Amino acid sequence: MSQRNHFLEIAQLRDSDRLVLLYEAQILVRNEKFIWSLSELDPNLLNGADIILLEDEGGSAIVAVNTRNDISDTLQAEARSLRSLLFIGGDTSFTVAGRVSQLLDWYNTHRYCGTCGNRTIHHGAERAVVCEVCKIHYFPRINPCAIMLVVKGDQLLLARSSRFNSGFFSCLAGFVEIGETPEETVAREVMEEVGLEVENIRYIKSQSWPFPSQLMLGFVADYKSGEITPEPSEIAEAHWYDIDNLPNVPSADISVAGELIQHFIAQVRSSQPK
Ligand SMILES: [Zn+2]
Repeated sequence: MSQRNHFLEIAQLRDSDRLVLLYEAQILVRNEKFIWSLSELDPNLLNGADIILLEDEGGSAIVAVNTRNDISDTLQAEARSLRSLLFIGGDTSFTVAGRVSQLLDWYNTHRYCGTCGNRTIHHGAERAVVCEVCKIHYFPRINPCAIMLVVKGDQLLLARSSRFNSGFFSCLAGFVEIGETPEETVAREVMEEVGLEVENIRYIKSQSWPFPSQLMLGFVADYKSGEITPEPSEIAEAHWYDIDNLPNVPSADISVAGELIQHFIAQVRSSQPK
C-alpha cells in the first residue's frame, strides 16, 4: 500500500483506520469507546476537518480527525475531555487519546511563524510545520517535568497542592528549567516547595502526561536535612506518612506518582520481617 503523508484528505481514509474524532479539543465517545471506524459514519460529516495520520505501522493506522462542526448529536456520541478518558479503557487507549490531543494542540498553537509572524504550512512528509518566508521548520515539543517521592527510612512525604484541588496527597513535581538536569530539578523543587534537603536522587521511571504536553520523569530521593516548610502558593500541606496509614493517594494505574508510591511501599514491605 502506498505511503501516506501526515495530513490526509477524506478520500485517503481507509476502512482499517482507527479514527479519533475531536471537536474543539473534546473527544467524541460512544458507549465508552472513542476509536471509530470509517464504516460507522458518513464521510460527508468530515468535510473541512483536519485529518492527521498519527502512526501507520502495520495494518491499522491511528488517525486524528478534528471536525469543523459539532457532529456529536448526529453520531449519538458525547464530547468528553481528555482527562475524563483516564478512567475508561486501558492504558493503551488513553495513550492514543493523549497523543492525538497533544498533537492537535501543537498544530493549533503553531499556525503562525514565531519569527516573522506569517502563516505556517504543514510539512507533508515530516511531523512539522514550515514558514515559507523564513524557511524555519517547527517540530512538536514536549516539556520535561521531574516528579519525586521523598522518603525518610520507612516513611514517605506526601503533599496536597494549593493550586489543584484534586483531593489527592501526592508526590512533589516541577518543570525542568533550561540548563538543568532532572536530578537538579528534584533537589531544587523539594527545597522550594517544602524546604527540605535531599540526597541519593535516583531515577525510577517515566510517563507521557498529556495535560497539556509533559514528559514526567519519576525519581525517589532520600531526606537529608530540614523541617517541612510548605511554600503556600504551591503546597497546602505536606507530612511524613507510614505506608500503613496513607491518605488518599493517586492510583498506580493512572499516574507515575501512584507508581512511585507503590514502588516504595513494595520495597518497605519486602524488607520487613515476615
Ligand atoms: Zn517566518
